[in-house]
This record gives sequence, C-alpha cells and structure tokens, in this order.
Amino acid sequence: RLKGASLPAPAASLSSFDVEGVRRDFPALHQRVNGHPLIYLDNAATTHKPQAVLDATAQFYGRDNSNIHRAAHVLAERSTKLFEAGREKVRQFLGAGDAKEIVFLRGTTEAINLVANSYGRRHVGPGDEILLTQLEHHANIVPWQLLAQQTGAVIRVAPINDRGELILEEFARLISERTKIASVTHVSNALGTVNPVEQIIPMAHAVGAVVLVDGAQSTPHIPINVSALDADFFVFSAHKIFGPTGIGALYGKKHLLDAMPPWQGGGHMIQDVTFEKTIYRPAPEKFEAGTPDIAGVVGLGAAIDYLFRVGIPAIAAYEHSLLEYATQALATVPGLRPIGTAANKASVLSFIIPGVSNDAIARHLDKQGIAVRAGHHCALPAQRHFGQDTTVRPSLAFYNTFAEVDSLVSALHQLPKR
Ligand code: PLP
Repeated sequence: RLKGASLPAPAASLSSFDVEGVRRDFPALHQRVNGHPLIYLDNAATTHKPQAVLDATAQFYGRDNSNIHRAAHVLAERSTKLFEAGREKVRQFLGAGDAKEIVFLRGTTEAINLVANSYGRRHVGPGDEILLTQLEHHANIVPWQLLAQQTGAVIRVAPINDRGELILEEFARLISERTKIASVTHVSNALGTVNPVEQIIPMAHAVGAVVLVDGAQSTPHIPINVSALDADFFVFSAHKIFGPTGIGALYGKKHLLDAMPPWQGGGHMIQDVTFEKTIYRPAPEKFEAGTPDIAGVVGLGAAIDYLFRVGIPAIAAYEHSLLEYATQALATVPGLRPIGTAANKASVLSFIIPGVSNDAIARHLDKQGIAVRAGHHCALPAQRHFGQDTTVRPSLAFYNTFAEVDSLVSALHQLPKR
C-alpha cells in the first residue's frame, strides 16, 4: 500500500476478485511505456480489449466474413447469425425486452444524433423544451442545439452543485408540459458523478416527456436494466466497454422506434424501392442503412460475453473500493484539488494542482508510463462550474489495481517543484 498514507486495506471480500487473472486477458496492458510498465488510467476515453474480443474479430474476418442478410450461401448465413446474436447479447446486456429494440450504430454520438433527428424532428416544435443537465458530454449537447435551431425549440439546463451533483429540485423546477425530451448522462465523463436516473425518468414521464439516458460512461461500470429504469432511449459505445471502436447501440422502446421515421436512407433498410416510393423494413433495420460494422458487432458481442463471465456486479464492487482508495490516496498529494466530489461516483478522478499546468502533470505521468488525460474531456459546461476549462483525469477500469493507484500517487508526490 501507499507509504505513509495509512489508508485502510481494501475489504477482504475483494480478494475474491481476481484482478491478476483479468489482467492476463488484456494483451495491451503488458507493455512498457517510456521504460516503465504501462499503467493505463485513461479508461473514460477508451478501454483496452480482452483477447476474447481480438479473437472473435480476427475469426470473423479470417473465416466467416460475408455481408449479412439475403445472400443464400454458408458464409452469409454465418455472418447474419453472428450479427443477430450480437443484437441478442446487447438486449441481455441492457435488460431490454426485445432484440428489435436494439439498433446498431457507430456509437453514442451517432445514437443521440439519430434520436434528435428522427424522434426530435417529429415531436419537437417551436417553443417546446429539451431538458439537459450541466453534466453532459458535448455529444449530448450539440445534437440538441442543432435540433433547437431547426425547430425553434428551447434548451433548458439543470444545474449542478459544488460537488458536481445534479440539483434534483432544479431539474424538477425546469421540467414541465413544455418539455418534450430530457436527455441526461448516466455517469459524467468529466466528474464521475452518477446521475439519479431512476428518479429523473419518472419525473419526465409525469409531464409526458421521453428520456434518453447516455450510458457511455455507466455501461463499463454499473449493471444496466433499461426495463427496470423504464428508460425510453439508452445509448452506449462498444469501445468504452472493452469492445471495438466504431460500433455502439441505441435501445429504444419498441412503440417509439416503430413510430419514428428513418434517419438515413440506403440498402438493408428497405423492403421495396421504386422511383416513386420506398417501403422501409421495420425497426431496427429501418435505422441501419448500408452495410453495418459486422465485425464490430461480433467484437461487441464478445466483449459482453466477457463482462458477463467476469460478472458485472463483481466489477462494480471492486471498482467502488478502488475508487474510494484512490480518492483518499490522491488527497495526500500536496495542493491537489479534486474536481467533482459527488457522493455517488464511478471511475473518474479529475483534479487540478494549482500552479502546475494540467498538461505538465499528464506529461510527467506519461514519462513514468502512466496514461491519463488532460483536457476539457468534451464536457466544458461541467468543468466551467469549477472555474476550469481543463483538468487532469485518471479514470479506472476493473483491470486497474491498488498498486497502480499507489504508483500514480507516488508519481504525483514527485512532481517537479513549481
Ligand atoms: N457521452 C459520454 C458521457 C461520453 O463519455 C462519451 C465519450 O467520451 C460520449 C458520449 C461520446 O461517445 P462516442 O465518442 O463513443 O460516440
């Protein structure tokens, strides 16, 4: 444990979480960077991939590769089965009732844009309101601004307190019959705050609004059940949950997806085309124009299998202890100011050290093989609440260890004098 910090040892039950076994599954973790073993603490940006994901993707391209649907040959059948099996895995991962409620897209950003363009343009008009929180990633701000510009709708923003927690009373005050959509992050990528979506969703439903939950940062850390939450839309990216880049999914309640117009047109999404008229396939296909990222879906399915094997509740419990330990350990660094101290947090440990630039801190850590992000993290409004445009942001995953946290903290203790 960290010398001199006299921190409590992690609970005995955590010894049952085989972090060393998990680490063996991730080839990228076993490299040296700048002469030191890599300590990868940039998981909120993207995560590393277990061998099972690499194998599944390589096997797809090396053996099963074919375009999906329609073609009457063995490889096409295999690819189609793998693709649709991926949809079923996402259904299970999110706790959705029906695989037809899962749409494959490039990721969280594209999924939010789809909802804004398809649901939004049909249901949002002049003077209507779109309710966001101050914690949102730019991907959950800009598509709504574009929609507001096109429709004459108004964006409202529920503020946060000085710990970085959503002020629920303000959210309640801002939501009204004028609100057509509330779009909220489940976990803030800049501060780590967990939003109380189980309270937000009924509040929105009470005024007739639908809710989109941005799950980009919750899916890697927290068990999700969209049915229990009663979320209308839920979106996430595979690359944040140990799967490939360029693929992600939108969950939408079936009756909502069925009533929504397509967003993009092309092959795969049609039943019949003449120059006069096109008949679309039902959801989810009507939202999946063109050849999808089939290998990406296979890799995403393998990532979900892997998470289920390790156990998402066990991951959440281990990470919770690691985050608490890291929070206390970072507090021993002279001058360090944590940014975001919510009571309910996941993964993220943003901070600044006044007098030292965030870039200089990140470069100092990188010299010791410790990968963290310094920047605005695409969530400027959240950071500006703390008077900061940028922070240093270590972010944890379940393959990180207590010893790695110790190394981070002792490297910060050795920061060159300001
Ligand atoms: N929302 C949140 C909370 C995020 O953290 C991110 C990525 O950092 C996104 C949305 C955008 O995800 P992607 O770039 O995978 O589309």
